[in-house]
Amino acid sequence: MTEHLMKILIVGDGNVGKSSFVHRYVNGQFNKMYKMTVGVDFSVKLLHWSDKEKVRVQLWDVAGQERFISMSRIYYKGASGCVIMFDVSSSSSFLSCRHWKQDLDNKAMLPNGDPIPCILLANKCDLAQRVVSADSINTFSKANGFVTWMETSVKENKNVGEAMRRLVQEILST
Ligand code: GDP
Repeated sequence: MTEHLMKILIVGDGNVGKSSFVHRYVNGQFNKMYKMTVGVDFSVKLLHWSDKEKVRVQLWDVAGQERFISMSRIYYKGASGCVIMFDVSSSSSFLSCRHWKQDLDNKAMLPNGDPIPCILLANKCDLAQRVVSADSINTFSKANGFVTWMETSVKENKNVGEAMRRLVQEILST
């Protein structure tokens, strides 16, 4: 039995659903009043990936920022993958994804110098008031080297596990 340890970062503007995502993924719940943590925090989930492989996912969430700030290199150190999240009802949170991706690529890389696998998540897809179109997300995702992009709703538990599985699969294959 092989056990892989993966440090996965989750970044994006404040209020897009990062803490809720981590909470949902790790505990399988959606809690509206989930307490905002201060500073860096990580949660752990053990995946029984195959007969021969387990994956211990460490999900690092930086909570408490309202807008883009350049993150410390310490946060990025040793990361195997990243989730960049925005809120489909907030165009500014989508625009910030460019900065988050640039910051990531500047500060984190695989031992061979390649960028680390990163998935783009369009969260809150349950909301009617969408302002970011699928076309623009698709174009942005392709132009900026994301593994892929997915719509998620942490509220309705849509694509939370699927998104993480896609990212873990990509990390295992790199
Ligand atoms: P963070 O600042 O990025 O960590 O965002 P939070 O996890 O604190 O979530 C911000 C707000 O968005 C909270 O009120 C959540 O309940 C809400 N939220 C998170 N995910 C969803 C979702 O998929 N749909 C809807 N409608 N609300 C969500």
